[in-house]
Amino acid sequence: MEFKLTEEQQMVREMAARFAAEQIKPVAADLDRTHKHPTEILKQMAELKFLGIAVPEEYGGGGMDYVSYVLAMIEISKACASVGVIMSVNNSLYCYPVMAYGTEEQKKKYLTPVASGEHLGCYGLTEAGAGSDAAGLRTTAVRDGDSWIVNGEKKFITNGNVADYCVFAAKTDKDAGYKGISTFVANLKETPGFSVGVVEDKLGILASGTAELVFQDARLPADALLGKEGEGFKQMLSTLDGGRIGIASQALGIGRAVLEEALAYAKEREQFGRPITTLQAIQFKLADMAMELDAAELLTLRAAYNEDHHLPYEKEAAMAKCFASDVTMRAAVEGVQILGGYGYIKEYPMERHLRDAKICQIYEGTNEIMRVVIANNLLKGR
Ligand SMILES: Cc1cc2nc3c(=O)[nH]c(=O)nc-3n(C[C@H](O)[C@H](O)[C@H](O)COP(=O)(O)OP(=O)(O)OC[C@H]3O[C@@H](n4cnc5c(N)ncnc54)[C@H](O)[C@@H]3O)c2cc1C
Repeated sequence: MEFKLTEEQQMVREMAARFAAEQIKPVAADLDRTHKHPTEILKQMAELKFLGIAVPEEYGGGGMDYVSYVLAMIEISKACASVGVIMSVNNSLYCYPVMAYGTEEQKKKYLTPVASGEHLGCYGLTEAGAGSDAAGLRTTAVRDGDSWIVNGEKKFITNGNVADYCVFAAKTDKDAGYKGISTFVANLKETPGFSVGVVEDKLGILASGTAELVFQDARLPADALLGKEGEGFKQMLSTLDGGRIGIASQALGIGRAVLEEALAYAKEREQFGRPITTLQAIQFKLADMAMELDAAELLTLRAAYNEDHHLPYEKEAAMAKCFASDVTMRAAVEGVQILGGYGYIKEYPMERHLRDAKICQIYEGTNEIMRVVIANNLLKGR
């Protein structure tokens, strides 16, 4: 076994780190304050191929591997977790299922515009009454000649207020439980009967829009069905496995920012006539952060390696997402503590890191659900 990145992976990491430090970090506090969608930053990320990193070049993507995706996601999220989640949803939750389940025609029509970064994608699974229990969703899709008629509402959809394209789940057979769920892909801007509902006001990742998607007798073309009818639940869940690698990376980016900033601050801050880094109470907090973040990074890279090598990664992705977000949340709480009163004040980015870290324990499956997924794998002998 070798703990070494390839030249290409190293290059992607350096490129992402440079871009994030120069173009994103200087405006991150402002994006957080104004809740502004980072349009200009995303345009530049499209040029770097960061919005479809692992999609083959023939469909507008970067043609790189998932380890490169993790490395880039960490660096981007270190500068701004909102930009990080926009990137993660576009790559993992939109591009992946269209690439994995789409026909050649569907890939040309629905994947290329989003993998190239020309348009943004989103992923609609959650509904008001169906969160962790996603199979309880109520949105319906009914055939009508050459069309599908969709009715229902999706809740808490990242990029939902700005995305042009969407992969979403709907019931095509109301009486068949989870086996009655199918996956659809849509150009929302060309869908009569579709509208954006409430855009949520929230705790963190404030430059990333979270919105309701409303389908009222919305008419989609026949080619909107992704894969086979009735296989949607399986497809949507296996899409989330890859998504969790993205969220683990987002959490890691936030955690890395916390450690870097806490360390820099502690070296400068003097109390009782000496820098607070001379206090063992502070040193131990920094040591715990470094140790736990390294462990989380290894788990995340293992999950991405498995995805790249077509090895099972459901359990590995759940472990990575759960552990990375738990240790980052812990690091952010301690990061605020190390900065004392200054950690609580908006002049420093630490309070933003604390607000941004929390969501990583909740979305793409809560960390309670991650433990259920890990345990189910163990019980199956994996
Ligand atoms: C900012 C944001 C962005 C989001 N983006 C998207 C998106 O792009 N697309 C999308 O489809 N969804 C998205 N979501 C939805 C998100 O994935 C859900 O909120 C999440 O899965 C939890 O569902 P819920 O909120 O309904 O909580 P619930 O499922 O109601 O859970 C409530 C509590 O009960 C616990 N719980 C529930 N079931 C179990 C169980 N079996 N065992 C143990 N504990 C359990 C949960 O862990 C949690 O603590 C987003 C949410 C937010 C807040």
